[in-house]
Amino acid sequence: MKVIETITEMQQISNEQRKSGKSIALIPTMGYLHDGHCSLIRHGKVLADVVITTHFVNPTQFAPNEDFEKYPRDFERDCTLAESNGTDYLFHPSVSEMYPNDFNTEIKVSGISDKFEGKTRPAHFKGVATVVSKLLNATVPDFALFGQKDYQQYLVIKQMVSDLNFPVNIILHPTKREEDGLAMSSRNVYLSDEERMNATILFRALSRAKATIINGELNRQKINSIMADMLITIPGVKIDYASAAEANTLEEPENFNSGQSIVLLIACRLGKTRLIDNMVVNSK
Ligand code: AMP
Repeated sequence: MKVIETITEMQQISNEQRKSGKSIALIPTMGYLHDGHCSLIRHGKVLADVVITTHFVNPTQFAPNEDFEKYPRDFERDCTLAESNGTDYLFHPSVSEMYPNDFNTEIKVSGISDKFEGKTRPAHFKGVATVVSKLLNATVPDFALFGQKDYQQYLVIKQMVSDLNFPVNIILHPTKREEDGLAMSSRNVYLSDEERMNATILFRALSRAKATIINGELNRQKINSIMADMLITIPGVKIDYASAAEANTLEEPENFNSGQSIVLLIACRLGKTRLIDNMVVNSK
């Protein structure tokens, strides 16, 4: 595995790979890799000849009061994991390489960005869309892989890629979970032992709402209440949202139709840690 630090070198390498007939898969990450990231890397290797994993904690997707400074970092360990799971090139630019002083562009995907995460974190998806377009232009991949863990992010990127005609296939990869159901996340390291035990409530609330939909419930408020009622059994939990929405558009009808694809989305805080998770379910 080769570590690349500049956009120019990354572009040269991916050009050469394409010219020699190789296909490329891009895996954007902010590092502190866990098996969720590694499963994306492994799937990238199945899809394409060359895997480029990016390792960049993107400051523009964090609000000033968020955890950019203390976001967990361990570059040496990440290099070992990225390489052993099949990364050929690890793109690891500095902040000034990505955002020189005269940087002056933002990409805003309207509509899909404005709900749920976008409401709680207003500048977040602008930062994500802008950095992902830069990463796509630095690597020009055939495939870019995103985890279902960040389901709304996947929808935002799909919309942007379609609107701006990026020549790339966006692939959604399932969420990797711990044995007790907690979705793997770099931020799980922030949880105290007690919070870690309580954190399974997201998976349990999603699972119960999913079962209720499979049993025929189509009323959105009722589905939302099932999730909220379970979450508030945890002392001190703060719910940002616990909502069912149409899976492709995130629209929120009063009642879903039968046979509709529904996404259940949760974001909540346990102590100082903000956790998100989701499940997609087809109504009966
Ligand atoms: P992050 O480093 O948190 O920005 O995540 C980088 C990529 O890994 C994103 O596409 C995430 O959706 C994906 N990812 C994060 N956690 C998981 C997980 N538990 N399972 C699958 N993919 C994940």
